[in-house]
Amino acid sequence: MEYHNKEVKAAEVALKKLFADSEDKRAILRSPELAALFDRLKMLPAGKARADFGREVNALKQELEQMVREAAQPKAEVSAIDVTAPFDANTPADSRPSLLPMEGGSQHPVTQELKVILDIFSRMGFTAVESREIDDDYHMFTSLNFPPDHPARDEYDTFTTDEGLLAPAHTSIMQNRFLKAHKKDLAKGQAISAVVPGRVFRNEDLDARHEHTFYQLEGIYVDKGINAGHLIATLKTFLEEYYGQSLEVKTQPFYFPFTEPSFEFALSCPFCAKKGCQVCSYTGWIELLGCGMIHPNVLKEAGIDAQTYTGFAWGMGIERLVMMKYGIEDVRLFESANLKFLRQFS
Ligand SMILES: [Zn+2]
Repeated sequence: MEYHNKEVKAAEVALKKLFADSEDKRAILRSPELAALFDRLKMLPAGKARADFGREVNALKQELEQMVREAAQPKAEVSAIDVTAPFDANTPADSRPSLLPMEGGSQHPVTQELKVILDIFSRMGFTAVESREIDDDYHMFTSLNFPPDHPARDEYDTFTTDEGLLAPAHTSIMQNRFLKAHKKDLAKGQAISAVVPGRVFRNEDLDARHEHTFYQLEGIYVDKGINAGHLIATLKTFLEEYYGQSLEVKTQPFYFPFTEPSFEFALSCPFCAKKGCQVCSYTGWIELLGCGMIHPNVLKEAGIDAQTYTGFAWGMGIERLVMMKYGIEDVRLFESANLKFLRQFS
């Protein structure tokens, strides 16, 4: 409403400003400005001027009461915004992508298979130790018998922080830690045995067989009188249990700084029983992992007497195991968040 009386108009401006500025909106109804207008009204002589003034003062009071009532109303319901949703909050409901309802989700195939793998190794007496996703040069290289500037370091080219920390390129980073923590067990006549699952990172050119981020399972076993026969039997037992069939295995010499001797470990193709197929590139064999006898320098670095104790270690890519189990042809699917792929495992 438009007020014509100067005093009422001045009060209107002052009170609307007070209304906008104050937390307690009802305060304007008790304000001295409004009371002064009613005091003034009482003092005016009866007549047209008083009648006009009274009408405007009452109208202003009603307007203010209406504003206070509206401010007290609860705000219109605004639905919560999911900031993680893969679309803009303003996208109309009918153009939003159909998402997997939460109760319809499932574990990632790597997580599912890792449970199976750890269950097998746990029944074989191995403790599971989680790896870590940031580490230092000592645990990544030095403690594992990689001398500074050794060319073998290039095989493990990974990501580094400005502070010189590394995103681990293998879960062997836990070897020195676990050996040190459990060397006391050896004196008590107990073997050191662990499997170490974890996420690892490589600076790779990506293709169907190479991914910059993947999962690895390290295994370590140390005791008196351990030899390569124990290593091969352990891996064969695991693989036959995992693939649910008898398999042949073979090793050929290889080089790793942290094992001596080192082997490349192959198994007979679980798809074609050595007849030759696409999975094994028609060779009947699949090279699966690297392994070997733990280098005496690695044992010494952890404070273990390498004359008395020997041990073996291996590292295998978990995606590779899973790919062979289900005939998955592209490793990049695992990190793709592709629902068509993931739903096959739900
Ligand atoms: Zn085959």
